[in-house]
Amino acid sequence: MTTSLSLAAAEAELEDLRDRLQQYNYEYYVQDAPSVPDAEYDRLFARATELESQFPELASDESPTQKVGAPPSGAFATVTHEVPMLSLDNAFDQASMEQFIRRIEERSGEQGLRWCAEPKLDGAAVSILYEDGKLVRAATRGDGYQGEDITANVRTIKNVPLRLRGDVPARLEVRGEVFMPVAGFSAYNEKARELGEKVFANPRNAAAGSLRQLDSRITARRPLQFYAYAMGEVEPARELDDDSHYQRLMQLKDWGVPVCPETRQLDTSDACFEYYADIQQRRAALRYEIDGVVFKLDAIDLQQQLGFVSRAPRWAIAYKFPAQEELTWLRGVDFQV
Ligand code: NAD
Repeated sequence: MTTSLSLAAAEAELEDLRDRLQQYNYEYYVQDAPSVPDAEYDRLFARATELESQFPELASDESPTQKVGAPPSGAFATVTHEVPMLSLDNAFDQASMEQFIRRIEERSGEQGLRWCAEPKLDGAAVSILYEDGKLVRAATRGDGYQGEDITANVRTIKNVPLRLRGDVPARLEVRGEVFMPVAGFSAYNEKARELGEKVFANPRNAAAGSLRQLDSRITARRPLQFYAYAMGEVEPARELDDDSHYQRLMQLKDWGVPVCPETRQLDTSDACFEYYADIQQRRAALRYEIDGVVFKLDAIDLQQQLGFVSRAPRWAIAYKFPAQEELTWLRGVDFQV
């Protein structure tokens, strides 16, 4: 495609792409008010990644393609994540999903791997820390290493337990997505329109914006919910005696943490494609918005063996649905932050 591009032309294009991606990151992660559809952002991101791999001399640790989210805004106290909260690599079609599975099989030296499939909820990532079963802290993902302390806001989410049940590790960090179910989102926007107030661009911005309110009474009035999708820090770790990601999610559920009911353990890659097709077909009927499926290698020891690259684990992928957003993008609407 761009084989005839000169180094100077690639450098100029990359500089422009990086500036734009940085600006869009700021709007999206700090202001919770994007000015372009995600599909447009994804196109620019893919182009920057392509140029960086074609011209390795232009690669940089500072590039938005190497980073997660945005640093804490300063409006909240800062929380350091002991285990980084990363992003996910994407597959946008069946061929790249197949390529991902092949790569994992080659790297792990194993065929017929087991997977955990989870709907990719379109909300905001949070980390919730429990000490002796009691909720003591909650934080945004931020830039993956440092997030914002939003404990007071997360405490207002009705399905987040303030206390866990049973014999839980002394220190347990639960990670998951805070989201605004579609019905709550529509009702909220309808009311805002009646009152002449700002409406939310989409449920994702509604969730992120509601979570980052300085007054937790405002968050309490927003219809937010939470589903867990991982454990972060666990102390003492030996209390987890299985090596399956899916089983760990079921363990969280036993302790009283909500987990998405569509979560499945799948034994073959064919089953992954079937799951994807099935949930894509049911997508409009789900009570929450999803933009794809996250497939994670189920075996924790293999996850650890594969590790991660700069911004994402090697053992997981977000297999996204084809973009619909450009059709429905509400240009010019005064969005709620
Ligand atoms: P992402 O949303 O593509 O994937 C990572 C996130 O997925 C996690 O942090 C978590 O919040 C979420 N997630 C949902 N379900 C999950 C599950 N079951 N397991 C693990 N994680 C799960 O990545 P990102 O880094 O948060 O954001 C990048 C995306 O955001 C881009 O692809 C783009 O679409 C969008 N974006 C848009 C703009 C814009 O201006 N429109 C700007 C920046 C980013």
